[in-house]
Amino acid sequence: MDIRKHIRGETMIQTIFENVKSAPDSGHLASYIPALANQSKDLFAACLVDGKGEVLEFGDIDYLFTLQSISKVMSFIVAAEHLGVDRILEKVDVEPTGDPFNSIVRLEVAEKGKPFNPMINAGAITVASLLPGETVELRVNAVREYLSKITGHEHYVNQEVYKSELETAYRNRAIANYLKANDYLVGTVEEALETYLQLCSLEVSTQDLSKFGLFLSSDGKFANDNKNLISRKTAQFSKALMMTCGLYNASGKYAATIGFPMKSGVSGGVLCTVHNGELENLNGHIGIAVFSPMIDEIGNSVKGMDFLKKLSDQYKLSVF
Ligand code: GLN
Repeated sequence: MDIRKHIRGETMIQTIFENVKSAPDSGHLASYIPALANQSKDLFAACLVDGKGEVLEFGDIDYLFTLQSISKVMSFIVAAEHLGVDRILEKVDVEPTGDPFNSIVRLEVAEKGKPFNPMINAGAITVASLLPGETVELRVNAVREYLSKITGHEHYVNQEVYKSELETAYRNRAIANYLKANDYLVGTVEEALETYLQLCSLEVSTQDLSKFGLFLSSDGKFANDNKNLISRKTAQFSKALMMTCGLYNASGKYAATIGFPMKSGVSGGVLCTVHNGELENLNGHIGIAVFSPMIDEIGNSVKGMDFLKKLSDQYKLSVF
């Protein structure tokens, strides 16, 4: 079945959305900071944007949520474009861990304590310290500006979320100290931590994320012009990292069952990028994003993943 007809006609995708929405609740809200614990559990949004810039949206599309771990993709891209992928790889590997995102254990067992990949906290804190700019503010702005080029508007740090993140960052601070002890961080531990946590606290809508997914799908091209914003190599590494490490220690399962690059965050968002030859009329490109704050034990949005699985099955979106 051609998804293009439905990105216009929308009935089938609407039905999938409604079915997932009305399914019984499961999972829990992220509870480690009040701003996330107080989100309404019923929020649910999905957005698809195709290669012609046509948008299909469902549910609570105006709701802004914080990127959390999804910011790891943007940080990697901006740092890789600044220094080149190879320089980043000197400080961070590209191997999945099978461990939770905030795990410390591999830093002790890895050769020279090198973080395994940029999609876990250890790797992302390292990458945050490699962003362009001498100060936390400049580094955060580099990512904000990048994001704005793709979404077409400004993005702000949610100060309430950031403040709570910083106050409760015991584990992340331990990881950052460990990284500093092994010489992976540029600048101070606090600078790397503040940069990382401000990026986690950047606000986006579901549509913003779907535009980012489309942008990645087309290797850095906009929907409406052919200007490339990232190198092929950065795009290739970003998508490979999302596919192999983007859904924490459930990445392998979802690569097998859904089969396109995705990155989730504990606030309940999922960024997806689809490039599938079967979608010929769209030049094969779609950006998809979902948001629903009830997450499973691993940290992935329950309804979000359910919607994506049904969509992938219905339209054969897996790359495999
Ligand atoms: N701010 C959270 C942390 O660093 C982000 C976690 C996430 O989305 N997995 O622990």
